[in-house]
Amino acid sequence: MTLLVHDVTLTYPDGDGRLTALDHVSLEVPAGTLTAIVGPSGSGKSSLLAVAATLVTPDSGAVVVAGRETTRMGAAEKSALRREKIGIVFQQPNLLASLTAVEQLQVMAHLSGRPSRQLRRRALELLDAVGLADKADKRPHQLSGGQRQRVNIARALMNEPTVLLVDEPTSALDHERGAAVLDLLVTLTRERSTATVLVTHDHAHLDRMDRAATITDGRLVQNPDPVVAA
Ligand code: ADP
Ligand code: MG
Repeated sequence: MTLLVHDVTLTYPDGDGRLTALDHVSLEVPAGTLTAIVGPSGSGKSSLLAVAATLVTPDSGAVVVAGRETTRMGAAEKSALRREKIGIVFQQPNLLASLTAVEQLQVMAHLSGRPSRQLRRRALELLDAVGLADKADKRPHQLSGGQRQRVNIARALMNEPTVLLVDEPTSALDHERGAAVLDLLVTLTRERSTATVLVTHDHAHLDRMDRAATITDGRLVQNPDPVVAA
């Protein structure tokens, strides 16, 4: 199992008490499959992604990434694992204004200490994979919202992650562009064998996903069967 979240509980300080954001949550995501997490605002979706990304350590439970249990790792070990194994796509594509599309990707890999030769070629190959071969030299302000989100996704794939975590990637896009981004994520998941988790508050397009889980007040129910209808 490429990503395994087992019996995770996460609380945040809340006045004199604690707010339970994740309540004994378990989730298994095999390589090459995409699981959608659906739930209302404030239900714990982003908290679940943050835990799966090893950005937040849960109060209890286990988070296993590529066969390694992470909750007792030190900060340096976790950040190395994150760099090598986990691609994260946040809701807003936080691209650097002064860099071209291909440079956004090259910077990502450069930071993680890969040799710089071949980086540009790999970046161009990924931009091609997300349908932006002709936009490599454009800066963010020269791209549409959908195109920026595609750069964001390509950037997350630069280090060949085994786990891909995506938070509401279509919320800033219209229906058609949103559907195209979801199609792209399904294709990339298959081609690159990532264990992909896609958070959305939108029930549309769920029929394209391998599995769906619903989260309500921090409690997650995973449907083990392929999604038939939203
Ligand atoms: P969603 O992504 O589904 O909207 P979140 O995971 O962001 O939900 O939030 C779940 C709950 O945890 C909400 O009640 C939210 O207010 C609370 N919460 C989220 N992050 C924090 C934080 N850093 N500190 C305190 N409470 C938080
Ligand atoms: Mg959220």
